[in-house]
Amino acid sequence: MKSRFTLRIITPEKDVTEETDFLKLRASDGDLGILKGHAPLIGALAVGEMDTALADRRTKFAVAGGLVLVNPEGAIVLSTAAERRDEIDIERAVRAKERAESRLHQDDADHIRAENALKRALTRLEVGRGDG
Ligand code: ATP
Repeated sequence: MKSRFTLRIITPEKDVTEETDFLKLRASDGDLGILKGHAPLIGALAVGEMDTALADRRTKFAVAGGLVLVNPEGAIVLSTAAERRDEIDIERAVRAKERAESRLHQDDADHIRAENALKRALTRLEVGRGDG
């Protein structure tokens, strides 16, 4: 297919390559949509959802921030963690959310770390529970 390009997702635990017609990412300065032939770029990713679409099959991922590289070969997402919707353990994300929320109420806790953990947990819950 002419519109198809390669998306590689690299984390410390996996390195997967898939074909997609479309990529939507949460960049640090807003949503970023990528189609084949997009101008080359490197962008910072926020913690958030990532969408792909192959023909009419849409897939959602939870991405824990990182970087995206777009070049003529396709796109590479480099992140500390990225889970496809069906890989997300909802109960684990609920526990992580509760832990992060309780840390946010402790004066001596690292609040930036807790806020990031909360964002990861909320993203996993949104992606894992969603039906999009
Ligand atoms: P936790 O406190 O539950 O470990 P975390 O946000 O600290 O959550 P990360 O450091 O972002 O976890 O990720 C560590 C590894 O665990 C990664 O491989 C990530 O994909 C995986 N992971 C974390 N939470 C979940 C989850 N709810 N479902 C599936 N995989 C998860």
